[in-house]
Amino acid sequence: MNTFSIAIHGGAGTLVKGMMTSALESEYRAALKLALNAGYKVLEDGESAVKAVETAVKVLEDSHLFNAGKGAVFTATETHEMDASIMDGKTLNAGAVSLISGIKNPVALAKDVMEKSEHVFLAGDGAMQFAKELNYKLEDDAYFYDELRHNQWLEIKDTDSFQLDHSTKKDSKFGTVGAVACDKDGNIAAATSTGGMTNKKWGRVGDSPMVGAGNYANNKTCAISCTGSGEFFIRGVVAYDVACLMEHKNMSIEEASNEVINKRILEIGGDGGLIAVDAKGNIAMPFNTEGMYRASKTSNGKEDISIYK
Ligand code: ASP
Repeated sequence: MNTFSIAIHGGAGTLVKGMMTSALESEYRAALKLALNAGYKVLEDGESAVKAVETAVKVLEDSHLFNAGKGAVFTATETHEMDASIMDGKTLNAGAVSLISGIKNPVALAKDVMEKSEHVFLAGDGAMQFAKELNYKLEDDAYFYDELRHNQWLEIKDTDSFQLDHSTKKDSKFGTVGAVACDKDGNIAAATSTGGMTNKKWGRVGDSPMVGAGNYANNKTCAISCTGSGEFFIRGVVAYDVACLMEHKNMSIEEASNEVINKRILEIGGDGGLIAVDAKGNIAMPFNTEGMYRASKTSNGKEDISIYK
């Protein structure tokens, strides 16, 4: 049997020790543990990597702590526009949605795009129409309201600035979420979900729903979920770049993801991190910021839940 493993993230950014109360830190760790164990259990039960990443991401989306699903940040017009994607490394099937609202678990809709449509990427009104045809229930605004996120938005509304959830401000909350997994059969998968940037406008979409940029999976190389400054991660085609370094330069998952996060993306001005797994269950979780909410667990008995460097 293959070593099976899972890694998750809850966003990278200005996470410095002592910045938050120990009670809040415990809350983050507990939320990460819950998601990690939910995904790990799926793998332990012999189910697919796709199911495991969907399960873990759903738990993170259901937490108000992370910028995805329930905790999604506010747009310039005080709404929530969410993006999500999922990819199956065995078949290279993928599904993605962007600019959706009212959907409790955007990752589930992305998976439905992958499995129940002929397409890969649905956006905005069309994606919402697809959800309606599948009888998705829509949550009202109150479900997505979070006081801290609203305050973040109030501070910059009516200005031209927009803010990455994981950027500079000491009290800002962090949080695009993602999961990568390798199952007992050696199949791998990745999923990513986000609310994007606070005060975003013009239908701004980041890297998270883009195949090859914020999310990618291919059994031949790796499964990747990214978090960071989306505009740079799109231009760096980050997730696919890691896969390319493994495929064409024969790098290990650790070498390839370090090269991209600590060199290539830095060179073009991008900050953030990623989680990666290969078909042998090896995991890498590099980031070039002060911290990244992250956790991993393997069938070899290794478990890690960390926030800081
Ligand atoms: N990468 C996400 C985006 O640009 C944000 C994040 O990771 O926090 O939409």
